[in-house]
Amino acid sequence: MEVQWAKDIMNNSDRDMAASEQVKRYLAYWFQLGKPLVVEPDQRTILPQPIIVGNRYSPEFESLWQQLLALGGQGCYLEGTVQSIADLLSSTWEISDCARCGMPVPIISLGVSSAPCPCFDLPTWPNSDLPQPRLPVDERSRLGQIRDRLRPG
Ligand SMILES: [Zn+2]
Repeated sequence: MEVQWAKDIMNNSDRDMAASEQVKRYLAYWFQLGKPLVVEPDQRTILPQPIIVGNRYSPEFESLWQQLLALGGQGCYLEGTVQSIADLLSSTWEISDCARCGMPVPIISLGVSSAPCPCFDLPTWPNSDLPQPRLPVDERSRLGQIRDRLRPG
């Protein structure tokens, strides 16, 4: 049910804000599976830990996210992918769910998938025995508030 809420909210909320939140979720989920961010030009990798503390994103993750936004995501991408964070923040791309594992994956916003999900080189994923990546609890309650606000009447 929560997933359906999220989809309804995405259809109704401001596009730019939604795109940014989706990219943030994309990074949070893949970081939880150990996929680092690669930063040009020296291919430095960054993997903040932890991602979630209590019911919030960790200060480490929030700090990295703010730096990424300040840079517009230029020259930064998730390891094993071809789309920079800047690409993902643009209207060309949106985040969908991988058909294989359900993780967030970039698609061209016309709905044409042009690249594999980053799960392609994770032999141990999907794995229903592992804890699934998640959002902080606060995020869900905030989305719940938005949903309530959008509810007709
Ligand atoms: Zn996948």
